[in-house]
Amino acid sequence: MSERLTWIHQELDSLKEAGLYNRIRTLGSPQGAWLMVDGKRVLNFCSNNYLGLANEPVLVKTAQEYTQKFGVGPAAVRSIAGTMDIHLELERRLAAFKGVEAAITFQSGFTANLATLPALVGKEDVIFSDELNHASIIDGSRLSGARIARYGHADPASLEKVIQENAGSYRRGLIVTDGVFSMDGDIAPLDKIYEIAEKYDILLMVDDAHGEGVLGTGGRGIVDHFHLHGKVDVEVGTLSKAFGVVGGVVAGSAVIVEWLRQRGRPFLFSSAVTPADVGACIAAVDILESSTERVDRLWANARYFKEEMKKLGFDTGVSTTPITPVMLGEAPLAQQFSRELFEEGVFAMSIGFPTVPRGKARIRVMISAAHQKEDLDQGLAAFAKVGRKLGVIA
Ligand code: PMP
Repeated sequence: MSERLTWIHQELDSLKEAGLYNRIRTLGSPQGAWLMVDGKRVLNFCSNNYLGLANEPVLVKTAQEYTQKFGVGPAAVRSIAGTMDIHLELERRLAAFKGVEAAITFQSGFTANLATLPALVGKEDVIFSDELNHASIIDGSRLSGARIARYGHADPASLEKVIQENAGSYRRGLIVTDGVFSMDGDIAPLDKIYEIAEKYDILLMVDDAHGEGVLGTGGRGIVDHFHLHGKVDVEVGTLSKAFGVVGGVVAGSAVIVEWLRQRGRPFLFSSAVTPADVGACIAAVDILESSTERVDRLWANARYFKEEMKKLGFDTGVSTTPITPVMLGEAPLAQQFSRELFEEGVFAMSIGFPTVPRGKARIRVMISAAHQKEDLDQGLAAFAKVGRKLGVIA
């Protein structure tokens, strides 16, 4: 073994000793309500396939057609070798769906944040950031070189206090928040945050990765949910969750989108998503625009599951969305709970420190429109059985 790599072996060993080593499960089937996980058929409570589109036949067929017509890869960076018209078409469709002037797509939601934050703020600026924001916001903020001023989670009073503390010390300010927080399932108070952004004349950016296709009319997202059309400067979204495909999007004013085409580094220096992805995303927009049925089913499923979990005596935390944390406390209990659920045929991951604070370990259940009532009932029965066995519920 090379000496140069010794430290990595040591680090990996210490992760294992601390119980922080991530053993990634192997999936042997397409996404859906049920999955083959490590060779076993289990109920899927893990994925972000909110609307069940990840293996929807219309999306698969459209992806095949786009591959036939446009090939498998874009073969270059759009800004250097020209953009395929299908990427522009998808961007027009996304802008229209969200009711904004323009949109620009990226390889993922993660890269959308890495592109946007450094394009909008730099060394002389301040980013006001919710303390529980997603890793891609944190990384994009660091890349920008701007000072990062964190405010209390989903707390407008704390945001205002931090803005006042920083008054006069920066050129531009930018407030950034997750729309729906992925570990707790709570919604940022964007209406109140918008009022503060207006009062202090600060740019406002929301990462709606878990609100896209979930919140608002027909899944149009958090801005629609709060009726803030035209008021939020930057809406980042992902095409990798509710849309069922992969990719990221930034929606907003034409001038911001134009600026990102000039200065968004992942746009300038990395190839775009494939024609198959584009085709599938366009088919997803078609479905979302034609009916609210999937979004309605997602919410009906989420409501049913949460109510039944509460009746059983589980604590589902502060969630008001289909993300359903089942609060358990200590990480070893959450890990054991997840293992026992798997034995019962349910795939639901435990989440502990450092992803969530110590003592707040949980199982995170991701509800989908793909679940039938019988699936949810089967999941509830497994939770009841394991919960009683481990003394979590009476
Ligand atoms: N932002 C948030 C809030 C997210 O939860 C995620 C996904 N975990 C992302 C961005 C990244 O999205 P993608 O998977 O498309 O890169």
